[in-house]
Amino acid sequence: MELYPNVYQIGSLYGGRNLFQYLFVGDNVVLVDTGTADTPEKTIFPFLDKLKIKPEQLTLAVTTHADLDHQGGNDSIKSLSPRTMLSCGEADRELVEDPSKLYDLRYNFLKQEHDVSIDPVPSPEAGKLRHMDLCFTGGEKIHLGDDWYLEVLHVPGHSRGHLALYDPRKRALFSGDAVQGRGCPEASGKMALPVTYYHIDSYLSTIRYFEHLPVEVLYSGHWPIMHGEEIRDFLAESRRTVEFADRAILQSLAKAPAGLTMKELIEAVASAMGDWPEENWIFAMFPIKGHMDRLEQHGKVKPVPGTRPARWALA
Ligand SMILES: [Zn+2]
Repeated sequence: MELYPNVYQIGSLYGGRNLFQYLFVGDNVVLVDTGTADTPEKTIFPFLDKLKIKPEQLTLAVTTHADLDHQGGNDSIKSLSPRTMLSCGEADRELVEDPSKLYDLRYNFLKQEHDVSIDPVPSPEAGKLRHMDLCFTGGEKIHLGDDWYLEVLHVPGHSRGHLALYDPRKRALFSGDAVQGRGCPEASGKMALPVTYYHIDSYLSTIRYFEHLPVEVLYSGHWPIMHGEEIRDFLAESRRTVEFADRAILQSLAKAPAGLTMKELIEAVASAMGDWPEENWIFAMFPIKGHMDRLEQHGKVKPVPGTRPARWALA
């Protein structure tokens, strides 16, 4: 779908959710996100073909952040078009390059202490090890034409190195999964996944940063296209969700003097949220760990010594 001249949204479904990549066709041809391992072959290259763009004309692929549905296609892009430069945020580099690190350090990092994890070994959807040709830290400009460039923004919270791209000409923001409202919807609109932010203060800074950026239209990794008021509502809802989760955690700990495990906290927060589907509650381990780290720093909760899986109690 053409969003505005020479800018396209490429869409497919992944687990019932929309999965979007974006394509900018100028002096450079820039792809934002590469999907899962088979997205290039099944969706991206056929889309390019319809525009009469050959894979080798792709100048740059930017992975917004370390997750298999955004980086999995990197290997496939590079295999078919070796001169396309692969890139991501510097702080996500290790995880974007290597699926086994993505699983060990991101998806399964709470397994030992908290007995929560996703899949033990990388799914083929996560793609293969591929090195990045360049990494961004935010503030760079990607040239597309006379008076046309994309600004690279560093917008951490969901991951440390999360990037967004901003087209000042159209006041269009391409945000990946940097802000998440109350969670990720299915294409039908029904809630699919809990929020998966992790670094709470960075996430709140990213929300505030977006609120101060002149944005007329928001294009994300999975959410519907939003304009004007809808963007402000989405950002406000993203912040309210953080505040709600924080309160739900403290309220459930207040009723549990012996403390709660990660699984018990997931159940408490997810039940309080109401519309996260139970089969995906596990993904709430990311924000809850983030909240617990921050609450501990603020002296509000403390780990209960000698417990495994670990428990937290009010301080
Ligand atoms: Zn995503």
